[in-house]
Amino acid sequence: MKRTFVLGFIVLGGAMTAAVLTAQQAAAPAGQGRGGGPQFPPVGAIEKVTGNVYMVPGQGGNTGVLVAANGVVLVDTKLANNGQAILDQVKTVTDKPITHIINTHTHGDHTGSNQYFPATVEIVVQENTDANMKKMPVFQEPANKHGLADRIYKDKLTVLSGADAIDLYYFGAAHTNGDSFVVFRNARVIHTGDAFANKAQPFIDRDSGGSGIAYGETLGKAAKGIRNVTTVIPGHSAVTTWQDFVDFGEFNRLFLEHARASMKAGKTPEQAMMDFKLPEKFKGYSLTGGRGGPGGNFNVLYAELKQ
Ligand SMILES: [Zn+2]
Repeated sequence: MKRTFVLGFIVLGGAMTAAVLTAQQAAAPAGQGRGGGPQFPPVGAIEKVTGNVYMVPGQGGNTGVLVAANGVVLVDTKLANNGQAILDQVKTVTDKPITHIINTHTHGDHTGSNQYFPATVEIVVQENTDANMKKMPVFQEPANKHGLADRIYKDKLTVLSGADAIDLYYFGAAHTNGDSFVVFRNARVIHTGDAFANKAQPFIDRDSGGSGIAYGETLGKAAKGIRNVTTVIPGHSAVTTWQDFVDFGEFNRLFLEHARASMKAGKTPEQAMMDFKLPEKFKGYSLTGGRGGPGGNFNVLYAELKQ
């Protein structure tokens, strides 16, 4: 089954933040998804991932949910105006209050409903994401400032403890310069944010410090540095396996390798894409569609390699 891959743009008070639509989301009605603003499906029903970890899909990035002893931790809050919908889904599995929000990165389809939740909710992000969020128009509004981080970290942080422990890791630039890998330790589940959104070319947001040169290396560090995880909640697609996450790092390293060789051989990004051969295990990946046109991420990599 071949589906196209589209790029949606969220306009936030004049600032453009690109967001990734998944293959599933690209199956939206014809004519949507390009130039007409974000076209995400509605918030879906909460899904049990394993144990006390759940996932709420739709309206932007997947929201990870940990039902901890004293409250609920959310990972990412979708586009704006979805706070109540997230809460409604959580309420179907627990009456406990939301106590923490972790944002995997700055984009408005992952941080958009932070301000719906009361100021008492502790918001945790990587320090570069904190800096990026502070530049977002939505958080210039005094009424929304409680949606900014209360707690930041640089390389590693554990939120809560014991069976509820959540390990946050930062390994360098990829999708942005502040991508957190969020591990529900006891459940052996990771939320990767958009560092691994889906099985397709990732959006490399260079305006938010993302890097195609660093991308595969960062994912490789994550694959080596994070232990004991079996299940993955990707940024914008269905729950999958740790091996898929490991392979996605290789996918991005192969892109970089081929970009370097193709540039040296004097090929255009379009030519690089045309003769890019991937191992059999990547056959389910999408290389076509809206990600940078026919040259795809080779455009981004060339620009970065020329600097
Ligand atoms: Zn993103």
